[in-house]
Amino acid sequence: MEKLGIHAFVWTGSSAASDLEAAMEKSHALGYRLIEFPRLDPTKFDIAWLAGRLREFELGVVVTMGLPFDADISSEDAAVVQRGRAMLHDAVAVTRDLGGGKLGGIIFSAHGKYPAPPTRRGWDNSVGVLTGLAETARAAGVTLNLEVVNRFESNVLNTTAQGLAFIRDTGMDNIYLHLDTFHMNIEEADPAQAIRACGDRLGYFHIGESNRGFLGSGTVDFPATFDALVEAGYDDFVTFESFSSEVVDRDLSITCGIWRNTWTDNVAVARHAKSYIEERFAEARRKAVAARTP
Ligand code: MN
Repeated sequence: MEKLGIHAFVWTGSSAASDLEAAMEKSHALGYRLIEFPRLDPTKFDIAWLAGRLREFELGVVVTMGLPFDADISSEDAAVVQRGRAMLHDAVAVTRDLGGGKLGGIIFSAHGKYPAPPTRRGWDNSVGVLTGLAETARAAGVTLNLEVVNRFESNVLNTTAQGLAFIRDTGMDNIYLHLDTFHMNIEEADPAQAIRACGDRLGYFHIGESNRGFLGSGTVDFPATFDALVEAGYDDFVTFESFSSEVVDRDLSITCGIWRNTWTDNVAVARHAKSYIEERFAEARRKAVAARTP
């Protein structure tokens, strides 16, 4: 069936083995085929253990992250850029060691609200780090997926057009865009058109509602989204991302502004998302076939 993933923060903000185990167990039990781990701190868990449990649960894995401001590769400060470069190279190694094939998220800048637009030198620094990282990632069997996010979470890549320009500047063929319906709903002139424009540079996709809660409870145009994914021939993982004040990670919850309780029952929201995504994908495929049939 669908290549469906789920963000670990639907289950837990913790890196404790028992919490990760429960997150994998529930993802598997509900029929998800991949779990996304954000901000995995390799000092807090045993990578070999986690890789083994992922295999046993038959779950794929994507690692995502956002750089902190003191390791921002779009900075003009060489020491700050160097810290970010080291973090990203570590993240590629963790992704590989977990058996994953994708590193995603805000890996081109800090994750947070900037007080000014990016500078030319900052953009060039980020492009330079990602170009070198892509070489390392290729050898590790990992692709880089740049998550295009809204203006309050980065100043570097807010639209698909900017993301494609960034990739062109690197000249690398293993850097893709990681698009997200929540962010596109804020920044893109036409989110569906942005997906089509991304085309074969689309490497990973987040399905999230405009209020981060239950799919269908906000303003994201999901029929148009799935039509565009089908039209773009996207055949890789889509991952359900939802946040509620019910599950708290001190850093990510604050950066993403998760103040409200959009759900209390994470099994209910995850089960609903799976059927919601599958039904709308199937609908979009039927429409595409009908449109082609004379
Ligand atoms: Mn996202």
